[in-house]
Amino acid sequence: MNLWNKLMCYSRRHSPWLFHMNGGSCNGCDIELIASLTPRYDAEQLGVRLEGSPRHADILCITGPITHNATNAIKTVYDQVCGPKAVIAIGSCPATTNVFIDSRTLEGPLSKHIPVDVFVPGCPPRPDAIIQGVAKAAEILAERAGKKQPVVPVVMPLVGPGCSGACACGASAEAKNEEVQA
Ligand code: SF4
Repeated sequence: MNLWNKLMCYSRRHSPWLFHMNGGSCNGCDIELIASLTPRYDAEQLGVRLEGSPRHADILCITGPITHNATNAIKTVYDQVCGPKAVIAIGSCPATTNVFIDSRTLEGPLSKHIPVDVFVPGCPPRPDAIIQGVAKAAEILAERAGKKQPVVPVVMPLVGPGCSGACACGASAEAKNEEVQA
């Protein structure tokens, strides 16, 4: 690896820029992602920054069960992120389509359409779990710089209860947590 690539690896590891896309979520995961950037959790102390354009981002954060309408937009945005790049599936929806599994408007899970590097489980995941997922993705990104590597998805451990009952799916938190524990 030449000096330029080493410098790029260091920068990406210590200052990952994120682009967030909603693939049809109930907004529960989106709120937790924003919470992770607030002073209380303070992801910015790790150099994490939310970007307005995928062309400036290193990591694509996707929430929601991936609706028909969102599918092409997600593929386009994925292509717009310059390589090397990493993808984080935030919440149980992009990983499995979760409580929306029987909906005919869905084309999820996300891994059917683009390679996913890190899955952060939870419905919604806690902000600290999201920060752990971003740190893992930054690590993957730094290793990936300058070489071609196959995507080996990492599933992060569940932090706190799987379901906080905060989303709009209508299922009770107790029932969903029993399902997660089973
Ligand atoms: S249902 Fe749960 S996992 Fe899906 S978007 Fe809402 S909070 Fe996130």
